[in-house]
Amino acid sequence: MDGATAPTPKPPLDLLIAAPRGFCAGVDRAIRIVELAIERFGAPVYVRHEIVHNRHVIEDLRSKGAVFVEELDEVPDGVPVVFSAHGVPKVVPAQASERGLEFLDATCPLVSKVHRQAERLVDNGRHILFIGHRGHPEVIGTLGQVPEGAMTLVETIEDAERIMPADPGNLAFLTQTTLSVDDTAAIVAALQRRFPSIRAPHGEDICYATSNRQAAVKDIAPQCDALIVIGAPNSSNSVRLAEVAERAGTRAKLIQDASELDFAWLAGVRTLGLTAGASAPERLVRGLVEKLQERFDVSEREIAGAIELMTFKLPRALEVA
Ligand code: SF4
Repeated sequence: MDGATAPTPKPPLDLLIAAPRGFCAGVDRAIRIVELAIERFGAPVYVRHEIVHNRHVIEDLRSKGAVFVEELDEVPDGVPVVFSAHGVPKVVPAQASERGLEFLDATCPLVSKVHRQAERLVDNGRHILFIGHRGHPEVIGTLGQVPEGAMTLVETIEDAERIMPADPGNLAFLTQTTLSVDDTAAIVAALQRRFPSIRAPHGEDICYATSNRQAAVKDIAPQCDALIVIGAPNSSNSVRLAEVAERAGTRAKLIQDASELDFAWLAGVRTLGLTAGASAPERLVRGLVEKLQERFDVSEREIAGAIELMTFKLPRALEVA
């Protein structure tokens, strides 16, 4: 006997990692636009609003030469500016043009699709009920595609039950792209019951990435004692992922990265689910797995869901010749 004490074995932890998770095609494209703009024009490149809602992405781009501001009047003359993936009201590019600023629009094409539908519906004389969360930049951007008063925001099922449009026979609805699939279906059902002639969008406005990530969480949540979502608290799709798990009866926590992991919260957890919102880089997922390995004997398994092949073209100004 040499007197050495054998290390205490770590408790086992089954880690079920949802797929798909993390970056979507719109986030990928938006980040690439900022990187290419820095390469093409040189630093600094200004970005109006967080390009995507993730502080790690922001810090990384800042270190490469991006400067983040909230409003266009914070952008000095003569430097390029990028608009975030969430989209901007029409007045923003108009003001940029007036000032002669070089601007690049990183609005996700799936958000732009909703913008175009909004314009068409209003041109055809419809009043739009827009399902979304007040104050979210995507909602501000979409409301800003049409004249004031042409769109009414519906946030909840209670709003849907209460709303009294001036011309109930001439309505259409559209939605934010990153909503809860289930909540939105309930709101839409209420609107369709109250206003049977309401026009639905062409195809789903909730985007493929939001739906796929929610479906993947729904799939694994029942097998998990708890589930962690990596994402920012202001990331709509990340917040929705935690809600989806909780609705499935699995307690869930949204954390920005491994530094926010509270091991006490994992007491009694034998099977843990893990996913990441559409703006969270995969390295944050790996960082969390490594942190879990410090205290647990982790056996990880990826549970594959929908296969995503979506990619979006870059703005013409940045296309490689
Ligand atoms: Fe586009 Fe959806 Fe990604 Fe938002 S979450 S950037 S709408 S693909």
